[in-house]
Amino acid sequence: MTHGPGTTSVHEGSEPDPATGAVTRPLLRTSTFRFDTVPDLLAGARGERPGFYTRYGHPNFGAVEAKFAALHGAGAAVLFASGMAAFGGILQAHVRAGDRIVALADLYGGTRVLLAELAARFGVGVTLVPRHDDDALTRALPGARLLIAESPINPTLRIVDVGRLAERAHRAGALLAFDNTFATPVHQQPLAMGADLVWESATKALGGHSDLLAGLVAGRADLVEPVREARKVWGAIADPDTAWLLERGMKTLVARLDRQSRTAAELAAWLERHPAVASVLYPGLPSHPDHELARRQMRGYGFMVAFDCRGGLEAARAVAERVRLIAHAPSLGGVESLLSLPVYTSHAYLTAAERAACGVGDGLVRLSVGCEDLGDLQADLEAALGAPR
Ligand SMILES: *Cc1c(COP(=O)(O)O)cnc(C)c1O
Repeated sequence: MTHGPGTTSVHEGSEPDPATGAVTRPLLRTSTFRFDTVPDLLAGARGERPGFYTRYGHPNFGAVEAKFAALHGAGAAVLFASGMAAFGGILQAHVRAGDRIVALADLYGGTRVLLAELAARFGVGVTLVPRHDDDALTRALPGARLLIAESPINPTLRIVDVGRLAERAHRAGALLAFDNTFATPVHQQPLAMGADLVWESATKALGGHSDLLAGLVAGRADLVEPVREARKVWGAIADPDTAWLLERGMKTLVARLDRQSRTAAELAAWLERHPAVASVLYPGLPSHPDHELARRQMRGYGFMVAFDCRGGLEAARAVAERVRLIAHAPSLGGVESLLSLPVYTSHAYLTAAERAACGVGDGLVRLSVGCEDLGDLQADLEAALGAPR
């Protein structure tokens, strides 16, 4: 594959339908496939044909898996019913009772809850290490099976050094599994920097239209095939409709990200000058504490912006309740701009002290910038940040 990411997003895995010449792949809404002979059926069961029984595999899954694998330069990819199911698939395939997992503590809330559950119920050790504590990581890694991390981190958009984490994991004999949801393969390629497995919530930017739930895992074929086997038997597969919508969404990934990132950068710079805003976190701003690292390891700074309101929680709540064009809603990465307060969503289960340790203040607002026009988004935020209407 030598095409650029735009071409890959549009064409990889999306060959025209050989039966009709239709330019887009037909949606095959079927749970099973018919075979004329027993050898045909056995070939299907071995995965040598695109369809067999839909939990095992389906041509509409193949298209999105091919795109995701190609965009990450990976040997293989597997589709799941959600981002959490994708992470679950990695654990089902690569961790067993008695193993230990090390994770950087600043994680998506669901990932953190799942790790806590796993430790308690399946006899897997979990060590959470503060993002910046190198000594703690050195102490925790020996004997670990997996190192888990994500970047940019939700919601502070802090950046971790993927290459350095991969090197440290490998030195200790562990695999690095990386949540790349905020960056997408267009802006960051963890596998090329040494990560072993990458997963993303396709519910977010890959789908891009807030109309589906899905997840994807990619990596070297020998590491991904066990994940595919786990999916077969645990059954956390998306359905063909979802796969078809996701294939369509992924075709415009690069176009959407270009526009969304450009608008996000403009909004971040504008918010930084706004009198009601105490600080702005956007990896593309020179004021961002990890700007240099972001510049080195990312190809774009993304569509997520976080800002801290001067008036604290009350002011942040007022912004969330006053925006009109921007929706006050969890989730991110869609064409419509969404805004949420981490205090009430992703970080609600933490104490105030734990939130402070992650850099999540009470006045923090998380904004996912969509495809609307910059001026309209500015006007909406200006009104929401200003005096009560
Ligand atoms: C949303 C999200 C997930 C979970 O994905 P679902 O599709 O909701 O299961 C995991 N990691 C990050 C960073 C996310 O934003």
